This record gives sequence, structure tokens and C-alpha cells, in this order.
Amino acid sequence: MINPFETEERRAFRASLRSFVEAEITPYAAEWDENQECPKHIHEGLGALGCFGFGIGEAYGGLGFDDAFMRASTAEELARCGATGIWAATIIRNTNTGPIEMLASEHLKRRILPEVLSGQEVSCLCVTEPGGGSDVANMQTTARREGDYYKLNGSKTFITGGVEGQYFVVAARTGGPGLGGISLFLVERDFPGFTRTSLEKKMGWWASNTATLYFDDCPVPAENLMGEENHGFIEVMQTFNFERLTLAAGALGMMKTLVEESITWATDRKTFGKPMIAHQVIRHKIADMMARIDMIESYLNQVCWMINESEFPVEQICRLKFSATKALEFCASEAMQILGGAGILRGNPVERIYREAKIFAIGGGSEEIMRDLSVRQMGI
Ligand SMILES: Cc1cc2nc3c(=O)[nH]c(=O)nc-3n(C[C@H](O)[C@H](O)[C@H](O)COP(=O)(O)OP(=O)(O)OC[C@H]3O[C@@H](n4cnc5c(N)ncnc54)[C@H](O)[C@@H]3O)c2cc1C
Repeated sequence: MINPFETEERRAFRASLRSFVEAEITPYAAEWDENQECPKHIHEGLGALGCFGFGIGEAYGGLGFDDAFMRASTAEELARCGATGIWAATIIRNTNTGPIEMLASEHLKRRILPEVLSGQEVSCLCVTEPGGGSDVANMQTTARREGDYYKLNGSKTFITGGVEGQYFVVAARTGGPGLGGISLFLVERDFPGFTRTSLEKKMGWWASNTATLYFDDCPVPAENLMGEENHGFIEVMQTFNFERLTLAAGALGMMKTLVEESITWATDRKTFGKPMIAHQVIRHKIADMMARIDMIESYLNQVCWMINESEFPVEQICRLKFSATKALEFCASEAMQILGGAGILRGNPVERIYREAKIFAIGGGSEEIMRDLSVRQMGI
């Protein structure tokens, strides 16, 4: 699809990222995913391309500008490697560097952001708890002020990058019930009373480590409170919409990989005396996948334009996110059907994406929560 909002800068950014992904990631993606690793040089390579710097000032190592189209093309192009564990392990920074820049002290920002944006260190966003992720307003982790420190108690789970991460943006209750009683804290991995366990045997995202975090009377310096007490979380909630945009764009990248793999397979393989691609039923599957790709790509471009032009279009981002993951699940299923038995063998992107599609439908606001929020945004 032609993007009517394309510019020379956006085209050049996408092209340099695509070259990097094709040369440095895709050939090794299956191996890294099986080994549950994302090499340091990939983090640093993406950092050097500017993939983590959107919306962050140059003084902190950022790009000094924001652009929703470039954010989306980062997510899309990276997802085309066919192993979104690598995608998650790296791009997770973009969920929390915005809040760090908005709310952390000047001293912390100058120390932490350059390390994170260059890809040397990983930073994590810690909201979900063992008791639930959708009902954020009901979170149970607490932070109690004691002199120059806050004592953090509780647990977070499903934290992307949580095993190897160095910096953790942690939401904890400092006040009464609801979102208005939640503050944000910048926690470092060596703080006393802070421990982590790895969530092993995940369905997907093997290249990305995922952790449960435990805070046991963990002393966090008062300087690490991000923003005002009881206000931090509400202040950064809007930035979570970038995560939803990123997940939708990642889904688009995965869909493109699925259709490419399907066409290649169906062209090479013969059934009933002719290439599969010549069978009408298979051609219709390709048409149905392409129609969804076109729809999501157009929708994504429109939403990017709205973000750049105005306030966050929360209502549309919610609908974009669940539309993209529904389309992804459809494409993953059809691609598996085209590959037949070969599709279930590990090591090919179709099999991997089929597993990983569900994570996109749940993480960063599940399909049910996105539907509900979009209707609430309509004032209903
Ligand atoms: C691989 C992975 C990585 C993740 N990374 C992070 C991370 O880095 N940081 C972080 O904070 N979180 C992370 N998450 C957590 C993710 O955001 C949550 O899983 C998600 O928000 C859903 O929360 P939950 O799993 O607790 O499900 P629950 O909230 O228990 O919900 C379970 C199901 O019920 C549905 N449901 C809940 N309430 C309603 C309702 N009122 N009406 C209808 N349906 C409802 C939900 O949509 C969901 O399908 C990650 C999750 C995964 C799987």
C-alpha cells in the first residue's frame, strides 16, 4: 500500500532499519529464539539506528523529535524477522523511557537514559501483578514513605526484560484506592529486598526474558519517586498508547512475513499436479490475508497521522490494536493451513508467529479491555 503520509526521512529510516533486520537479525532469529537469547550487539545496533530515541531529548541521548510513523515502522520492520521475542526484548524500552523522561529527576535521567537508549542496558515497565493485569486500578504493591526512602512491598509479574533488566519503572500504591493512589518509582536491579525469578517455558517470545519481581521492604530513595506522589501513574497513562500502537504495527509486520512465507511455500510445492499457488482455494487465502494487511496498514497510517497532528486518539488506537491482533490471528491460522504439516515443525517463522500472535492479543491491553475502553471513549 502507498502511504500518503510518506516523507523522505521516513522512507530512509525504514530502509536502513529493514537492511539491518534482514542482514543482522533474520538469518539468526530461529537460532536465537531456540537459545532464548537476544545478543547485546542487536540491542546496540538498534540503539545506534535511533529505534529507542523517539520523543526523548538529545541531552539524554534521544532523537530530539517524535514521529508516530517512525515508531510504527520500527515495530513493523523489526517484527518481520519472524521472531518477536527479539522484538520484545529490544523494543520494551519504548514503553518506559517516555515516563522516565517526563517524570524522573534530572540527575537520574542524565545517568540512565543514555545507557538505555544506546542499547547498553534494558529498562522495564512493571505494572502487571500476580493478582491481575487488566484491573490496573486495583494493584496491590505498596510504597510507604520512611524518611528519605520509600519501602516497596509486593510483586509484579510477566515483566518483559525483567531477568536481565537494569532499570525498572514500578507502579505502586502510595495512596487510597483507584488510579489516583498510584505512584511510579525508578528501581535499580541491585536495590536490597528486590529479587526476580524467570518465567520459563513460555508459549512464545523465547528470545525475550520474562520475570516475576518481588519487593520485600525494598528501600527506594525518595529521589526515585517519578513525579508527584499519587500522580505519576495517571500522568504517564497516555504514553501507554504508544505501546498499543507498537503492538499493532508489530502485528502488521508479522502478517507480512506470514503472507510472504505462504506465497513462497505455495509456489514451490505441488499438489494434484500443479503448484499449490495455482489452486483457487489457496489464492483466495492469499487474497484474504492481503485484504487484512491492507486494512490494518491503512488504519495504522491514519492513526499515526492523528497522533502526530493532535492528542492521542485513544478510541481509535484501542480499535486498531484489537483489529490488528484479530487480523494477525486470522493470517497465522491461514498460513499454517497453507504450510500443512511442515507448518508445525519448529524453526519456521509461521509456526513461531502462530504461537506468538496470542501474546499480542493479550499484552499491553487485551482485546476485551481494548473493546471496552474504545466504547467508553465514545461516552457510552
Ligand atoms: C509475554 C508477556 C509479556 C508481558 N510484559 C509485560 C510487561 O513488560 N509489563 C507489564 O506490566 N505487564 C506485562 N504483561 C502483562 C500483560 O499486560 C497482561 O497479561 C494483560 O494486561 C492481561 O492481564 P492478565 O494476564 O493479568 O489477565 P487478567 O486481567 O486476569 O484477565 C484475564 C482475561 O480476562 C479478560 N478480562 C478481564 N477483565 C475483563 C472484563 N471486565 N470483561 C471482559 N473480559 C475481561 C482479559 O481480557 C483476559 O483475556 C505481559 C504479558 C505477557 C503474556
